Amino acid sequence: MTDIKSMTLQELMAEMEKLGEKKFRATQIYNWMHQKLARSFDEMTNLSAALREKCKEQYEITALQAVQVQESAIDGTRKYLFALSDGNVVESVWMKYKHGNSVCISSQVGCRMGCKFCASTLDGLERNLTPSEMLDQIYSITFLTRERVSNVVVMGTGEPMDNYDNLLRFLKLLTAEEGLHISQRNITVSTCGIVPKMRELAEEKLQITLALSLHATTDEKRKKLMPVANSYSITELMEACRYYFEQTGRRITFEYSLVGGVNDTDEDAAELIALVKPLNCHVNLIPVNPIKERDFVQSENAAIQAFKNKLEKNRINVTIRREMGRDIDGACGQLRRRHKEQVTAIGGNKR
Ligand code: SAH
Repeated sequence: MTDIKSMTLQELMAEMEKLGEKKFRATQIYNWMHQKLARSFDEMTNLSAALREKCKEQYEITALQAVQVQESAIDGTRKYLFALSDGNVVESVWMKYKHGNSVCISSQVGCRMGCKFCASTLDGLERNLTPSEMLDQIYSITFLTRERVSNVVVMGTGEPMDNYDNLLRFLKLLTAEEGLHISQRNITVSTCGIVPKMRELAEEKLQITLALSLHATTDEKRKKLMPVANSYSITELMEACRYYFEQTGRRITFEYSLVGGVNDTDEDAAELIALVKPLNCHVNLIPVNPIKERDFVQSENAAIQAFKNKLEKNRINVTIRREMGRDIDGACGQLRRRHKEQVTAIGGNKR
């Protein structure tokens, strides 16, 4: 069955013509799926019963099922665990800010990048998410919360640049005028640094923010935390970031997870300043979220603050990521992991 929610309006028009239907049927169906957030053809009451039946035979509408929701008593952050039609699960996070609601989505089931501090990659990559599975994390959350989502960050499980074609289609559908029409400026895509794809994305000239997970200031140190550093050097990464800024005019975000005693020394701060100062950028410091499978520890609060102050003194735009949903948090990817462990423990297979 064809994945109808991953089609652009133009593609859907061509489909309707093939079925011998008028083009405006495509606009109606598109509108049902992407604006009214319909989850089945039966809801599409302005289509004839015959057309609805025809569609049901040919197309599948991706509609994720929430299997678990955790809500923070502190700040209202919610973590959703969604089941996909093949039984795999992914997690998404909904965060409330003064300026609007933000959703953090997953781009893959698992991840093959192997970053040492990250829970999402411990079991490797299961498969890529389709464009509609990425979209429906946002649609399902909008549907469940009955509140509009204004910001989207692709920072959940998975490496978006390792699922590049689906990511691009997802971005086009998410920002399309005939859909949820989320502003490109309110979307951030985070990558561990796959240089050729960063350059390809730059050439799309979208107004989205590119966030680079840097986490270390020398190739040697970065290789210890992130295997991807064996493929691309920090010099190549910085050139790609500069290129992204030249092509799009968008300031780069550098993510830097602070790990106690590993990358939080005065020397690290000085090296980071030297690296990023020439670029128009923003630095986001993330106190590392320890996972039980590894023995990384968070930097001391004083060390985090001192690190930030050093960057500020050098007039680098820097923030410390506020820890949302502290009480429901495991690190990224841990909700899914715990769910998998439980299913295995009660003798189930992967579902
Ligand atoms: N694969 C993409 C996006 C997913 S991770 C990337 O690498 O950017 C989103 C961010 O969280 C990345 O900067 C990642 O390195 C960071 N991260 C993952 N696990 C973490 C942990 N346990 N503590 C702190 N940051 C973590």
